Amino acid sequence: MEHIFELIIGGVLLCLLIASIVIWTGNRRGLREAERPDEVLPEKGTEVGVVQPEQGVEVPEAAGSRLVRLRRRLSGSNNALARGLADLISRDRLDEDTWDDFEATLISSDLGVGPTTELVDTLRRELAIDGVNDPARAATVLRRELVSLVDPDMDRSLGLQGSDGKPAVVMVVGVNGTGKTTTVGKLARVLVAENKTVLLGAADTFRAAAAEQLATWGERVGVETVRGVEGADPASVAYKAVEQGIAQGVDVVLVDTAGRLHTKTGLMDELGKVKRVIEKIAPVTEVLLVLDATTGQNGLVQARIFRDVVDCTGLVLTKLDGSAKGGIVVQVQRELGVPVKLIGLGEGVDDLAPFEAGGFVDGLLGQ
Ligand code: GDP
Ligand code: MG
Repeated sequence: MEHIFELIIGGVLLCLLIASIVIWTGNRRGLREAERPDEVLPEKGTEVGVVQPEQGVEVPEAAGSRLVRLRRRLSGSNNALARGLADLISRDRLDEDTWDDFEATLISSDLGVGPTTELVDTLRRELAIDGVNDPARAATVLRRELVSLVDPDMDRSLGLQGSDGKPAVVMVVGVNGTGKTTTVGKLARVLVAENKTVLLGAADTFRAAAAEQLATWGERVGVETVRGVEGADPASVAYKAVEQGIAQGVDVVLVDTAGRLHTKTGLMDELGKVKRVIEKIAPVTEVLLVLDATTGQNGLVQARIFRDVVDCTGLVLTKLDGSAKGGIVVQVQRELGVPVKLIGLGEGVDDLAPFEAGGFVDGLLGQ
C-alpha cells in the first residue's frame, strides 16, 4: 500500500513539474514575439501584409473651421510680417528708410524678391501719395495685395474623385523629415471625418519604423494599412494597397513614400516607378509634394527636383507653426505653378488645415 501512495504522489508531482515547464516555455515564446513585432509581418518573399485597426477608434475634428482655429499659430510673436506691418503703421511719415525696412521684412519672410518688389511698389503708389501714414489704410491695402499674391483663384480642392468605381489614389512625396507620414495620417483623419472610407499604403519600406508610424496613425482612426517588410519594393506595396482598395471599394487610397535624396536618379527611378506601377490598375488622382516651411530656399530646391520626377498636383507646407517664413507660399506656388492645398500647423493630430488665401494672410498679419 505504502508503495502505491508513494507512486501516486510521485506521479502527481511529476505532472505538476511538466505542466509548469510547459507554461514557462509558452510564456517565454510569447515574450519573444512581443519583443520582435517584425515576426508577425509576412516573410520577405510574401512581401505585403495588412494592419487591421482595433476597436475604439477616435472621431477626428472636421476640416472646415480648422484654419480659423489654427491661424493664431501663424501670428506668433516671431512672425516677421505681422511685426513689419506693425512697424510700418507706427511711423508718422513713410520715408525711404521705412520702406527699405519693410522691404527687408518681406524678403526675410521668404516672399521672394519679385513678389516683394511688386508688393512694395503697389503699397507705395497707393499709400505714400502725400507721405502721411494712414494705419488703417496701410493694413487694408497690404492685406489685399498679399491675398492677391497668394492667389485666391487657384483651385485648391484635392483630387479625391476616383473613376470607373475605383478609389481615388493620393501619392504623398517629399524629402525625408518634411512631414509626409504625419500628413498622410492627418489627412486620413480629415477624410474619415468626412465619412470617406480610406486605406493607407506604406510605400516607405526603407525603414520598418516608417510603416509602423503610418499604421499607428491608421489604427487611431480605424483605417487599415497595407505594408511590406523592411526593404520590400515600394512600388509593389503601393500596387497591393491600390489593388486592395479596389477590391474593398474604398473611396481613397493614401500612399506614403520614402524621400531619400542622396541620388536624384535613384529617387526618380523609385518614385516614377511607384506611380507607373499604381497606374497599371488605377489613375493617381493627386500627387502631394510635402515641403517643410522652415527650410526656406532649400525647400524650393527640393521642390524643383521633385517636380522633375513626378507631376505634382498640389503642395503641402508643413511646420508653418514654427516658421516666420509664411511668404514661402507665394514663392513655391510661382515656382511650381501648383497651389498649396494643405498646411501643417503643429504636431497634433488635427493640426492640418485646408489652405485658404484670406484666412492664411489674416494669420500672417496677426489679424
Ligand atoms: P517624413 O519623413 O516626411 O515622413 O516626416 P514625418 O511625418 O515623420 O515628420 C517628421 C517630423 O516633423 C515629426 O516629428 C513630425 O511630428 C513633425 N511635423 C510634421 N508636420 C509638422 C507640422 O506641421 N508642424 C510641426 N511643428 N511639426 C511637424
Ligand atoms: Mg515618413
